[in-house]
Amino acid sequence: MADAYDYDLFTIGAGSGGVRASRVAAGHGARVAVAEEYRVGGTCVIRGCVPKKMLVYGAHFAEDLVDAEAFGWTIENKRFDWRALRDSVQGDVTRLEGLYGETLASHNVTVFHERATITGPHEVTLASGRRLTARFILVATGARPHVPDFPGNEHVITSNEAFHLEAVPRRILIAGGGYIANEFAGIFNAFGAKVTIANRSETILRGYDEGVRDRLLQISMAKGITFLFMAELEWVTKQDDGTLLVKLTGQEPAAYDAVMVATGRVPNTEGLGLETVGVELGPRGEIVVDAYSKTSIDHIYAVGDVTDRVQLTPVAIREGQAFADSVFGPGAPYAVDHSCVPSAVFSHPPIAAVGLTEGEARNKLGSIRVYQADFRPMKNVLAGRNERSLYKMIVDAATDRIVGLHMIGPEAPEILQAAAIAVKAGLTKADFDATIAIHPTMAEELVLFK
Ligand code: NDP
Repeated sequence: MADAYDYDLFTIGAGSGGVRASRVAAGHGARVAVAEEYRVGGTCVIRGCVPKKMLVYGAHFAEDLVDAEAFGWTIENKRFDWRALRDSVQGDVTRLEGLYGETLASHNVTVFHERATITGPHEVTLASGRRLTARFILVATGARPHVPDFPGNEHVITSNEAFHLEAVPRRILIAGGGYIANEFAGIFNAFGAKVTIANRSETILRGYDEGVRDRLLQISMAKGITFLFMAELEWVTKQDDGTLLVKLTGQEPAAYDAVMVATGRVPNTEGLGLETVGVELGPRGEIVVDAYSKTSIDHIYAVGDVTDRVQLTPVAIREGQAFADSVFGPGAPYAVDHSCVPSAVFSHPPIAAVGLTEGEARNKLGSIRVYQADFRPMKNVLAGRNERSLYKMIVDAATDRIVGLHMIGPEAPEILQAAAIAVKAGLTKADFDATIAIHPTMAEELVLFK
């Protein structure tokens, strides 16, 4: 039956979800091909999590080099070279892209470096005109930055372009108050830019715990980042000197050297031929799937950001793995558990969280206990850096079970990844209390909550 088709699986999109699904399916003995019109690796590797984290590391040195003096170091002639960092980051991205390609090749996955469109129930057509058939089709085309509609939006950049700038802008306006806005605000601020964040609502990082969000806001403002709320882009014009004049709602026009929009990401579903085979789309253009990532068409599946479930790389990878195991593996089909997903914002300092916020827990459970540690990390004390960390633990009063952990402070994502196992496993506050602290650490606060 399988031989009636050119392939058992044709994957469109070689990002995190598509690569994992293709590799695992091939490991289960499937004949697999993947089409990628841009670079193998997808958003995370090429223009997302990975290069962003490298810039975050680079940015941290700005404060570390200042703090080093309190620890006895004298560093003369400090100088930051954006192009040197940018190029070494891009060099590593190319290395990783090569590794992803090698992984596919070593699993005998055929890679077509061109766009593929679905042209029949089991048929895809490549940009070159070549037609191929497959028993299953997986759509893993990800998402792209949403650019709001306003006059002059052709002058703005998104995170895609931020990695390739010729220079750090002297003044940058970042529209949006989510992950990307706060992460890049920290990066550009550390590299000497005057950063302004403008969000349409009256908050940043909606969805994160209020206490933690407020702490990031306070610290970011102390670092010199300006925040404008209820401020949406109305228009942007390019002036004769190359700078951008920007009008935000409720604000006088002001000049910036660059404007970056970070106002969410939209699923890449246009022009894929999904309508020709009747794949159902949701209101944001996302592909509607069931718990097993199956679309409204029995042999067409979709994983990752294109389904707009949880727009996080590790989730896309899990979805790709579950799809490949379920459809091509020997065991019973299984679904990804999308509950209790830990997440982090690589702001300065970073935020990390798992489970319910205090507000969500109150609404859902009624009676909760909230524990809080508000402290200045030892390193900050000696450095004279007046930046306090905040850890919050949310406990279900009826069962003593921990239902949420929320942290802002140095290395919060590294610490939370381990603690998230305990929360996912349903451990109680008493279990944390029974654990001896490692002293002196920041993480010990997790087992010392009173
Ligand atoms: P987010 O969803 O995090 O934030 C979007 C921001 O833009 C919000 O502040 C929102 O305002 C605002 N906004 C939304 N729509 C509009 C609009 N039409 N006009 C004006 N403003 C708007 O999106 P990002 O772009 O920052 O990131 C995209 C996704 O990528 C994230 O959701 C996340 O899943 C992923 N990501 C994850 C990272 C990580 O794990 N560390 C890092 C970077 C990205 P408000 O909500 O206040 O109304």
